[in-house]
Amino acid sequence: MKDFKEFIPLLHSKADPVSYGVYPLSVHTIKKTTLFIAKSKEGKVIVSAGPSVNLVGEKIVIEGTEVVIGELNHENAKVLRALFPFTAPKKVLSAARTIGVGDRLGIAGPGHIRVFEKYDAYPVLAQQSVRELTLTNRTFEDVLDAATFAVFQEGYKKGYGADGDHLKTEKEVETALSLGFSMITLDCSEHMHNEFELMNKDELDRTYIRFDELEQKYLNKDFDIGEGLTVSFSEEEFKRMVMTYKDVLEFASFIYDKFFITGSYDADFEISIDETSTPTTPAEHFFIANELIARKVKFATLAPRFCGEFQKGVDYIGDTDQFERELKVHAAIARHFSYKLSLHSGSDKFRIFEIFGRITRGNFHVKTAGTNYLEAMKLVAMKDPAFYRKIHAFALTAFDEVTKYYHVTTDITRIPPVDTLDDQQLVKLFEHNDSRQLIHITYGPILNKKDENGSFVFKDALYALWNTYEQLYSELLFRHIGRHLHQLYRHCQN
Ligand code: ZN
Repeated sequence: MKDFKEFIPLLHSKADPVSYGVYPLSVHTIKKTTLFIAKSKEGKVIVSAGPSVNLVGEKIVIEGTEVVIGELNHENAKVLRALFPFTAPKKVLSAARTIGVGDRLGIAGPGHIRVFEKYDAYPVLAQQSVRELTLTNRTFEDVLDAATFAVFQEGYKKGYGADGDHLKTEKEVETALSLGFSMITLDCSEHMHNEFELMNKDELDRTYIRFDELEQKYLNKDFDIGEGLTVSFSEEEFKRMVMTYKDVLEFASFIYDKFFITGSYDADFEISIDETSTPTTPAEHFFIANELIARKVKFATLAPRFCGEFQKGVDYIGDTDQFERELKVHAAIARHFSYKLSLHSGSDKFRIFEIFGRITRGNFHVKTAGTNYLEAMKLVAMKDPAFYRKIHAFALTAFDEVTKYYHVTTDITRIPPVDTLDDQQLVKLFEHNDSRQLIHITYGPILNKKDENGSFVFKDALYALWNTYEQLYSELLFRHIGRHLHQLYRHCQN
C-alpha cells in the first residue's frame, strides 16, 4: 500500500484512493478543504487538505497545500460533528423501525452501517450502558466519537442515534445529554419494589398503603385498548402493582420534568422496566404507561420485561406461543398510547424476531450489543487459532468473577477442552451457547488483563488483529446483524 500522503496532490484526479490506504467513501469536501480517513502505519488518521478547518494534528505542506494529519480523537470528532451534521447523532426513534447496535470495542460501526444501507431501519450506533463502559474502560465520549468516525468513513448520511443506555441516575442522564446523546434509556429497576410481586396475600394486605385516587381510577374498571382488547385489575393484582411501581412513576416523571419538559435537551426518552426477574404483565404495562401519560411524561419507547429468558448472546429461552400471546396485548397497549415497544438483550433472539416484527406491525426498537463482540472473537478463532486458545483458557479462569454482573445459565463443564479441538472445530465453538456465553461475558477481564510490566496481555494484540482484518469483520457483522433484520422484517407490514 502506498503512503496516503502521495494521494494528496492527486486528490482531484482519478487516482484510486484505496491503493493509498484512503477510505474512498470518507472523502468529503467542504468549501476548499477536502477531508478523509486513511490508514497509516500507526493506525487510522483523519486528514484535511486545504485551508484549516481546525483539525488538531501534525501540520505539513504538500505541493503548496496545507495538510493536517490528526488522530481519531475527541477534539477531531467534535470538528467533524460541527462541519458535517450527518456525523452527529439525531433523534431517530420516531421512525417505524430502529435498531440499537452497541459497539463495545469501538470498531463495529462500518460493518453495522452496511446493514442499514440495505434495510430502512435507523441505527442507534452509539449505545452503551455504564456497566459496559466501566468494564471496557471507555467513556460516553469514546462511544459517540467511534460512531462519528464510522459514519464519516462510510459516508453514511441517513442519520443515526446515540443512546445513553440503562442510565440509573440523574447525574448519568445529565452527562449523556450534555454530550449530545439523542436518546436516554432510563433504567428504573432500582425504584422497582419486586418484593411485592413475590409476597403472600396477608403480608401484602398488611404492607399495602392506600392510594384512594388510584383505587377509584383502576379498581372495578375495564380499560378498552382497542383491537377488541380490554385491561382490568383484580384488587390483589392492583395492590401488588401499585406497591411495586409507584416509585418508578415518581422517578421517571422526576427525570422527565428535570431534563425534557423544558426542551433544553432534544432527545428521545425510553422507559426501561426490563431489568427484573418477574415478567411485566400486560396490566402492569398499561398501568405504567397510563400513569406516566397522566403525569405528562412523553416517551418514545418502553421496554417491558417480556416472558421467557433473554440471556446474553444466545437464542430466546422459553415458550414462543406464550411470548406471542402476551406480545399481542403489549403491542396493542403501545399502539393505543402511540409509542413503540423496545426489546432489550435482542442479540441472537432468532426464535422470536419474526413474531416481534409481525405483532408490532413493523413498529419496533430492538437493542443488540454483545453479539458484535462475539463476531470479533470468532474472527480471532478464524485467523489466529493459537491466540484464541490462550484467550479461551484465560476466559475460563475469569468466568466466576464475571457471573456477578450477568445472569446466565452457562455451564462451562459442557464446553469441550480446546486442546482436543482442531482449528475448524474451534470456530464452531461460536455455535454453542455455553462457549458463546463464556466469551460474551468475560470481555472485561480479557481486555483489561495486564502482565507484571503493566502491558496488556491480550488487548493490543486483539486490536491489531481486528485492524488487519477489518474488512472481514465488517463482512461477518453484515451477515450476522443482517440475519437479525431479515427475521424481523419477514412479516412486518409497513
Ligand atoms: Zn434492558
